[in-house]
Amino acid sequence: KLLLEVHGLTASVKETGQKILKGVDLTIREGEVHAIMGKNGSGKSTLTKVLVGHPHYEVTGGTILFKGENLIDMEPEERSLAGLFMSFQAPIEIPGVSNYDFLLMALNARREKDGLPALGPLEFYSVVSQKVEALKMEPKILDRNVNEGFSGGERKRNEILQLSVVGADLALLDEIDSGLDVDALEDVAHAVNGLLTPQNSVLMITHYQRLLDLIKPSYVHIMESGKIVKTGDSSLANHINEGGFKSIASFV
Ligand code: ADP
Ligand code: MG
Ligand code: MG
Repeated sequence: KLLLEVHGLTASVKETGQKILKGVDLTIREGEVHAIMGKNGSGKSTLTKVLVGHPHYEVTGGTILFKGENLIDMEPEERSLAGLFMSFQAPIEIPGVSNYDFLLMALNARREKDGLPALGPLEFYSVVSQKVEALKMEPKILDRNVNEGFSGGERKRNEILQLSVVGADLALLDEIDSGLDVDALEDVAHAVNGLLTPQNSVLMITHYQRLLDLIKPSYVHIMESGKIVKTGDSSLANHINEGGFKSIASFV
């Protein structure tokens, strides 16, 4: 079943009008894992930000359907409630809000939308502590304010903690491997794999083969100058890993 259908998507930086996305086509079905690779500045992060409705960008053309609904008309919050999750390349701090309260709030917003009763703070404890443990995080992380003073690795794990608490039909993971040591990467990949079902899908952006070895993509896309210029299976990633992006230039 189709989950995300992007056709001819163009988008600009709102403030300057600079064109970044120049006709992106991308189709993701339920249960698929997609990876996007590409040189720095090719528009990978912008694509994911546009998908979640980041206010710095303006969609100037094309269509985005998520579960058959027009995503472009939806507010970022509505997109999230519809089952779209994004981990940011640089997660933001939320001063004055504890991680615990933030996660519970996010989960209850989703439960309300699904017609389920809200979880109380005590009931939530067993749910969340299990996931904290699975991600090999310090339980104390729950009492700290969201991302405040977190190390790079803690922020990344915390993003995946959010994902595993709230769940998502499509998770957009932007360079979750950047700044993670090998052990941390394995924990994060294990958590992401644990979330994959025949209905749930992942779109991950990465420069590194080691992430793709841990989370196996069904499709690998190459982005260049604001477009997806090539799509293949995981062998495409191996190819780039060995010969660099220039090695596929003849295909483009
Ligand atoms: P990637 O994630 O592939 O490295 P990005 O999507 O972050 O690339 O950026 C693509 C290009 O768009 C870059 O040249 C970047 O400088 C530019 N860009 C992205 N967002 C903005 C912004 N808010 N303001 C100005 N330029 C931007
Ligand atoms: Mg980049
Ligand atoms: Mg980026």
